[in-house]
Amino acid sequence: MTDEKRDPIFDDVEKIVAEFIRNTQEELTARWNAWKPEVAEREYHEVVAALLARQVALAIQIARNPLIWNSDGAPVLLRAMADVFINLAWIFGDPAERARKFVLHGLGQLKLQLEHRKAALAKGPADPREEELIKLAEEWLQSQRLLHLTNVNLGSWAETTTRKMAEEAGCLDFYNHVYIPLSGAAHSMWQHVGRYNMRECRNPLHRPHRAPFIADEGIVPFFFHAAAKHLRETFALFDEKTGVKVDVPSAYDVLEKRFEEFDDKMDDEPESVPPRQENDE
Ligand SMILES: [Zn+2]
Repeated sequence: MTDEKRDPIFDDVEKIVAEFIRNTQEELTARWNAWKPEVAEREYHEVVAALLARQVALAIQIARNPLIWNSDGAPVLLRAMADVFINLAWIFGDPAERARKFVLHGLGQLKLQLEHRKAALAKGPADPREEELIKLAEEWLQSQRLLHLTNVNLGSWAETTTRKMAEEAGCLDFYNHVYIPLSGAAHSMWQHVGRYNMRECRNPLHRPHRAPFIADEGIVPFFFHAAAKHLRETFALFDEKTGVKVDVPSAYDVLEKRFEEFDDKMDDEPESVPPRQENDE
């Protein structure tokens, strides 16, 4: 069954997205295979692997979902990408020590979360499904080599603010120009909701005030482009800090090329009306 109303633009977008996803995965695999850290650096190795994979996964989620390429949807995921970038940049500054801190903080948080859930469970009726989930999480915790070192740490995992981490990692510009604006969206703060989720009331009988508003921006490729750009920055950071060099196409560069081709195509075919008949009286 075909959907005749479907805009042919979606076929182009699908192709571009599929190619982008393939390229991101090849980029990740090539780097992972080329990187040979010391055996003693296991936490560092694993933390970087997890954060890189997370960055690729987030970029793929954004790429694959054009319906969230708008001011309400994409910035929440882009902010998570900004976190990955700053975390990685900071860890590279003192790999063994900071990767270990990152792991220990995560283990402490999970331990605490499980204690809260168990306490809540003890008060209520038996819930076998919840018990099973807790058991699985506890098994994962037990499998972690550093568990015996875990102290519950309620502060930031790096015992510092993200701003300070960015400053120490030499990426304060990224923090100011990317992380902070995205934080407004991710945390639904006034600078975001006041601008994107309200508009002037159109009732002429009312005094000037703003009313709730759900925008329909359509599909804005800028947000896909931003995800690709953050991924490129993350790979570049990895390459710089590890000295790894890979010979695979950059998902970002290919995407840039496709966007240009797409623009040219749109210029050539500005509308879908039939050509005018010259001798039509
Ligand atoms: Zn009103």
